[in-house]
Amino acid sequence: MQNQFENTPIEYLKGVGPLKGEVFKTELGIFTFGDLLNHYPFRYIDRSKFYSVKDLNEDMPFVQLKGKISEIHEVGEGRGKRLSGTFTDDTGTIELVWFKHIKWIKETITINKLCIIFGKPALFNRSFNMVHPEVEYFENNTVSIGMQPVYNLTEKLKSHRLDSKSISKLILTLLHSSGYCIEEILPEYIQSKFQLKSRGEAYKMVHAPKSNLDISEGQHRFKFEELFFLNLKISGLKSKRKRDVSGFVFHKIDYFFNTFYNSHLPFNLTNAQKKVLKEIRADMATGKQMNRLLQGDVGSGKTIVALLCMLISLDNNKQAAIMAPTEILAHQHFDSISQLTLGLGLRIALLTGNTKKSQKAKLLNELIEGEIDIVIGTHAIIEPDVIFKDPGIVIIDEQHRFGVAQRAKLWNKHSTPPHVLVMTATPIPRTLAMTIYGDLDVSKIDQIPEGRIEIKTVHRFETKRHELFNFLKLEIGNGRQVYYVYPLIAESEKLDYQNLMDGYHKLKIEFPEPTYMLGMIHGKMKAKEKERVMAAFSKGTINMLVSTTVIEVGVNVTNATVMVIENSERFGLTQLHQLRGRVGRGQHQSYCILLSSIKLGAIARKRLEAMIGTTDGFEIANLDLKLRGPGDLLGTQQSGLLELKISDLVKDEDLLLKTRRETDDLIVKDPLLNLTENRRLRQWLDKQKRLKGDWGGIS
Ligand code: ADP
Ligand code: MG
Repeated sequence: MQNQFENTPIEYLKGVGPLKGEVFKTELGIFTFGDLLNHYPFRYIDRSKFYSVKDLNEDMPFVQLKGKISEIHEVGEGRGKRLSGTFTDDTGTIELVWFKHIKWIKETITINKLCIIFGKPALFNRSFNMVHPEVEYFENNTVSIGMQPVYNLTEKLKSHRLDSKSISKLILTLLHSSGYCIEEILPEYIQSKFQLKSRGEAYKMVHAPKSNLDISEGQHRFKFEELFFLNLKISGLKSKRKRDVSGFVFHKIDYFFNTFYNSHLPFNLTNAQKKVLKEIRADMATGKQMNRLLQGDVGSGKTIVALLCMLISLDNNKQAAIMAPTEILAHQHFDSISQLTLGLGLRIALLTGNTKKSQKAKLLNELIEGEIDIVIGTHAIIEPDVIFKDPGIVIIDEQHRFGVAQRAKLWNKHSTPPHVLVMTATPIPRTLAMTIYGDLDVSKIDQIPEGRIEIKTVHRFETKRHELFNFLKLEIGNGRQVYYVYPLIAESEKLDYQNLMDGYHKLKIEFPEPTYMLGMIHGKMKAKEKERVMAAFSKGTINMLVSTTVIEVGVNVTNATVMVIENSERFGLTQLHQLRGRVGRGQHQSYCILLSSIKLGAIARKRLEAMIGTTDGFEIANLDLKLRGPGDLLGTQQSGLLELKISDLVKDEDLLLKTRRETDDLIVKDPLLNLTENRRLRQWLDKQKRLKGDWGGIS
């Protein structure tokens, strides 16, 4: 019965109807009463407090003042026309300004009558003003007090007269008609164990709070619910996999691994590399499919670990594959792995979207016949027509660059799926890792190979470019190489390419041939051309590589010591960190030079400061999460998984951990949710499956 209430179509709510109902659906994805209740305010305005003019400061959010408007008049002409008023309370005076609806506002204002104004104070010419304040008079009972909810709105909602106040009113009507009795979705025992408010009560606290305490208690209830269900899915998925999906037992370490380890390895492995290798070996011998994340900061040496894992697969008579997110990186892996394993008799193939048709046909044939041992490529290797005879392990490099769905494709083709190792250099905060990679086991390389010298990072305004050029000439004179990166951001692509081209031509004049050899690389170039330029840079025949972010991940040229980033204020932190990771890979002192325009926003400044302050990827990732939020941090590919409505992975870390412990325990005790006490959970999951499809394949 109650459930029916929550599932009632939104247009049936008094005050909504078909027209507004449609707007709710298209603009906010609100289809039912339940959806509306779950449209939480994104902030609250404290209308329980009054401030005085003398106490105002610039950092204040919206505040309300009590006093009188002593006069108003129009100023300026045409587009500069505005309405200016003088507001006074017992402690001082401020100016009120309106740019829009001047005529209408003028009519609603009564001079010298006690009123409340509400807005954000701003400092202008050393005195305070308030732009577009709300003005309310006492007698008509419209004065709001308490905590006023503010909802997400769109222009279209506003044009249908759906603003925060009217949405609030609709929700209150709805709650009232439910009698504040909403069906629970968590089991009784969980509710009482964690002392959660009932849903009805909590909705009231969230949508019509009387105090900050109400807000935090109400929010806690829904955050708990949201994180609990997120974790239930992850715990369930992991346990299901461990239960159902069997895997190859790699019990042998034989010719390939041993020969390579003893006579081809160009350096000693770091202890961290040895440790993760041990973990991976153990995991590949359990009889269950391995699903493991290998985390390690830029330059920590993940490639060699990947190669050793592939050799174990070969020793157990199975093939191996590694997938990289870019052509350039796939080529680089192909070259370096071919080089490293020279003499071992391995049959290695490269497969990308640009592999010629005839060549590809031959390759696919050899692959299915088992005549190829290792395939290295881009996402072309998970296309449906690519079939291995006997795949033992698939490795995904720079996993954060792929969509989550792509991981699933890897094991659909065989009854016993290959082991899966995903690698990422973007160290992500623990909470985020727990959610995105929560169903994976994790190994960490927490050490950088010895002998590296810390990269020096500096920020320079672009007006100082010429001093920079002198420095670059010195470095090149000493035999080193330089990356020179221009931003490339999709929306303004044309403009960015223009910047890159202009920049390249200017640099060519500044660094003339034959003293200096410059090369350029960007995503729109033909694959062959990219390959040629990259190869020339690797060999050292190009001194300076002018580029977009196509070189952002994975590229490894140890003689390159300078990374110059133009317009660095336009990049995200993890991206800057990745770019910086292209240098400092060899024996020479390396530099990262962040150029920016003189005008720098507060957040951009913080990002650059963070880059100068630390080279630790984890610190950087944490800061990035704080500055940008999880959706952006991951790029759009993965944000779909994290449609968190009310929780915040930074602020709610404790709750995330607490609920994960609970769901892990619960799944151990009742893996299929068959117990009566978990009946509600089963129902909830079944409903989600109906609505959104099975989650099982996602990771
Ligand atoms: P990433 O983890 O960023 O993928 P790479 O695998 O590209 O790092 O390794 C970075 C560089 O460090 C490469 O030149 C690689 O040969 C080198 N390297 C890896 N492991 C070691 C080690 N144990 N000792 C010295 N150099 C190493
Ligand atoms: Mg790498």
